[in-house]
Amino acid sequence: MSYVQQIDIGAKYLGLTPEKTIERIGARKKELADRILILGHHYQQDDVYQFADLSGDSLKLSREAAKIIDKEFLIFCGVHFMAEAADILAAERQIVILPHLDAGCPMAEMSTRGAVEAAWPELAQAAKVSQDRIIPVTYVNSSATVKAFVGEHGGSVCTSSNANKVLEWALDSGDLVFFFPDQHLGRNASFQLGLSEDEVVLWKRGEPMGGCSAKELENARVVLWDGYCEVHMRSFPEHVHQWRVQDANATIIVHPECRNEVLRLADLSGSTEMIISAVADGKPGSSWVIGTEINLVHRLARLHPDKTIHSLSESCLCPTMDAVKPANLLWVLDNLAEGRVVNRIQVPPDIARQARKSLDQMLAI
Ligand code: SF4
Repeated sequence: MSYVQQIDIGAKYLGLTPEKTIERIGARKKELADRILILGHHYQQDDVYQFADLSGDSLKLSREAAKIIDKEFLIFCGVHFMAEAADILAAERQIVILPHLDAGCPMAEMSTRGAVEAAWPELAQAAKVSQDRIIPVTYVNSSATVKAFVGEHGGSVCTSSNANKVLEWALDSGDLVFFFPDQHLGRNASFQLGLSEDEVVLWKRGEPMGGCSAKELENARVVLWDGYCEVHMRSFPEHVHQWRVQDANATIIVHPECRNEVLRLADLSGSTEMIISAVADGKPGSSWVIGTEINLVHRLARLHPDKTIHSLSESCLCPTMDAVKPANLLWVLDNLAEGRVVNRIQVPPDIARQARKSLDQMLAI
């Protein structure tokens, strides 16, 4: 087996018709069925998602995939941090592949290990808290190196499903919680746990003392990194107001990566898995307005023709998730069939070991 890292898959693939591409993926998938497992995140476009052997949110996919140890190759149709998490949890002999190397998560990239490491002593000094009393919590949407930092400092990963529970644990375990990279998930979870506005402080990258005054830090219990998901940020309170007028009977359900002003106005909030179940459990004839990535909303509308389903904002397409096209998947499969592994994602063992600690901590909470 040889290994290749490549972004440009070339005209041979990009010039194929959609029909031919789909047909060839189907044939290759059959041919390689004993060796591959295709994982599809909910935000993937349907033309890719239809080939997934397993679908789900990022952590569910990695955990489920880790149980299937007889497949040599895990092809992760999602973004970079997800493939890293799969590699951390996979068996040693399994190889994780990301079909498009440009498929990163801009939010995950807002908190690099270097930036977090630099902010850590600065926060301790500014807040007058000893470093070992600060508990780091990272959203699963973060790099393996950031997860490793969290593991080394006794913290935990969280997901959008368990952020409240993990935050509660962190608040009980130290004097101050440092939450990254998504300020919105951190703020929403903090408020749901009953923290007041002055107990939740925003740390602004690049500013001395994170742009926080000594007084603000004195009251703080949770300090939020100033990261955000640009896709969920495209939902505004005005969208909620508009839908209340347009469909007064609709249940408005949003993802907790949306800003708090949107969550407060919505009827429900929850992870992608929670949104999927809520809609599936809804009564026939019920009406839903959903604030999350558009590929998932459109899929739910197709899956539930007995319900009326709208997107809170039609502009919520994640461009990096969408970077994985059927042509990228076909290119991966053709190369595997010819004995080449393309776009392998491999976390160095020392980083994987520390990152695993932060994932295990989450599972223990
Ligand atoms: S939807 Fe947001 S959080 Fe998810 S991959 Fe895209 S940018 Fe990252």
